[in-house]
Amino acid sequence: MSTTFTPLQDLAQSLHDCDRCKLSKLGRKQVVFGVGNPHASIMFVGEAPGFYEDQQGEPFVGAAGKLLNDLLQSAGLSRSDIYIANVIKCRPPNNRDPEPDEVETCKPFLMQQIVAIGPQLVCSLGNWATQTLLERKVGITKVRGQIFPLKDFVLFPLLHPAAALHQGNLLQPLREDFKKLKAYIDQHSSPRSSAGNTTTAPPHPFQGDTGSQQTQMDLFAS
Ligand code: URA
Repeated sequence: MSTTFTPLQDLAQSLHDCDRCKLSKLGRKQVVFGVGNPHASIMFVGEAPGFYEDQQGEPFVGAAGKLLNDLLQSAGLSRSDIYIANVIKCRPPNNRDPEPDEVETCKPFLMQQIVAIGPQLVCSLGNWATQTLLERKVGITKVRGQIFPLKDFVLFPLLHPAAALHQGNLLQPLREDFKKLKAYIDQHSSPRSSAGNTTTAPPHPFQGDTGSQQTQMDLFAS
């Protein structure tokens, strides 16, 4: 019996043992493809897996991930609502910055991932993701919290949670970024139809249904 895979599953499969760049030989344990709702309207993009991500095969499971969970909650989101991936899918040795050839090799897969998921809003976390998706050298502190309508999605750059863990003075600005994100989501969400139920307020579009494309797509309907 043959199984049909979605384009996202096909892409994940094609990268499973990826050796297209030198990171495959520099001690990575596994490719960290991404995780979350494959129909998410909101996608988060970080830089690269760190130690714990490499061990567990999932983005943002270390200290930065814990902070991200907290920030998502502050914006009324949970990890099951969204999709999370990184610009590069393999851990650089000692968590060094990604090198240009590594980004160049991996970026097409991020772009294919975005096409397969089809988010309306992509939140880039930190400089690397922002510069990669904006395709220009910009400082995250200049562009954070601003809206960049791109061809297929709106880009919303945010400070990187790991930066706030290293520099405590960035924590408050990061929390403000997520407040802006919440305001943007609230402004662009339409409540789910409450047909046949006039007594209860419609649930927040993110709550209670993580698998429905319809619900997710309603999110930004005007
Ligand atoms: N930082 C990132 O950019 N990505 C992760 O997955 C973890 C930490």
